[in-house]
Amino acid sequence: MILRNVNILGDKEPANILVSNGYVTAVTRDDVTEKAGELIICLENALAVPGLINSHDHLDFNLFPPLGGDRCYTSYTEWGRHLHASFKKEIASVLKIPALLRYQWGVYKNLLCGVTTVINHGEKTGLKTDLITIYEDSHCLHSVRFEKNWKLKLNNPARRKKIVNIHIGEGTDASSSAEIDTFIRLNLLKRKLVGVHAVAMTEEQARAFEALVWCPASNFFLLNKTAQVDLLQSQTALLFGTDSTLTGDWNIWRHLQSARNTALLDDETLFTAVNLTAASVWGLNTGSITAGKDADLLIVKNKTGGYGFDEFFSICPEDILLVIHKGRINLFDESLLPQLECERLDNFSRVFFGDCCKYIKGDLPALIDNIRQYKPDVKLPIAVNEAVRYKKGARNKFTT
Ligand SMILES: [Zn+2]
Repeated sequence: MILRNVNILGDKEPANILVSNGYVTAVTRDDVTEKAGELIICLENALAVPGLINSHDHLDFNLFPPLGGDRCYTSYTEWGRHLHASFKKEIASVLKIPALLRYQWGVYKNLLCGVTTVINHGEKTGLKTDLITIYEDSHCLHSVRFEKNWKLKLNNPARRKKIVNIHIGEGTDASSSAEIDTFIRLNLLKRKLVGVHAVAMTEEQARAFEALVWCPASNFFLLNKTAQVDLLQSQTALLFGTDSTLTGDWNIWRHLQSARNTALLDDETLFTAVNLTAASVWGLNTGSITAGKDADLLIVKNKTGGYGFDEFFSICPEDILLVIHKGRINLFDESLLPQLECERLDNFSRVFFGDCCKYIKGDLPALIDNIRQYKPDVKLPIAVNEAVRYKKGARNKFTT
């Protein structure tokens, strides 16, 4: 595949990106000639960025609306108690949807925004999908106060090589700070730790962590406060996560925009938190548009003609022209249909954000129908009533 005439973020001269066997093979300004049968996509006013890495989500919790936002809490335990006491019916109505369907929607929630890798927290999904990479190789512990036998699990020698991935210091009270000290002290095997949230964390405590996943939207929702990432960044690597829709918007771009508005991190640090830094911490061959890396790419409309961080942080899902995961196109804007009609599109569906139409791999309308059988009033960000499925047997013909 050749993507012609696209600006890579930070570079004012457009380039051609060559993709083969799932990898980026070259990024060049030279003229390139295609091989026989090779797909060429000619772009105009387009910007290429690495597919996003969302370092914290619960794929099975993204059919929940935000719950408990009517007040402010001192810790995740207080929020948890309030949730189970006040939203029993709402929680049961979502958990009634089979986990597989909830996981599948969680994948689409991320893909619709151009996320190509998600670090799922919790039980392994068991999902086989080539829509995005679901990273499930870390050792997830929920939290010091909600994970039973966490001391034994943390110090299990059989798992010592796995990164420990835990919610930590998610609160503003003394016990949220104290739990961080306890956790660090009892990491007897000195395992690599990735902490999520870290609102109560000090610079001293941050030194014990390989990385922290900053989820500011979730923090502000629960605690009206976020981690002191401006200070913590000198002690550890910073990654970025959305958490689930229980505590925030479905759209990671809104999370990134509000994170930028805090001015706690410079643009470069926030940008690399969703690509290069995350790839390095999780050990993934992705996160930059460089020869030899996995071809996880996001191509978006360039609305202003610029090619810097202002353009990156103003992206919204409607702007996305292409999401490519390991060299395969999994989402494209309808404006590219004429160039892609030579491809097999019979496993794509059409979905709409208002008037804006995207083609997405898989039968998303059927998944939504399926979910609605369990929860008819579920709220989703795409207009599913207008969603269109391919007509079986009629290649590339879509029908309502
Ligand atoms: Zn979480």
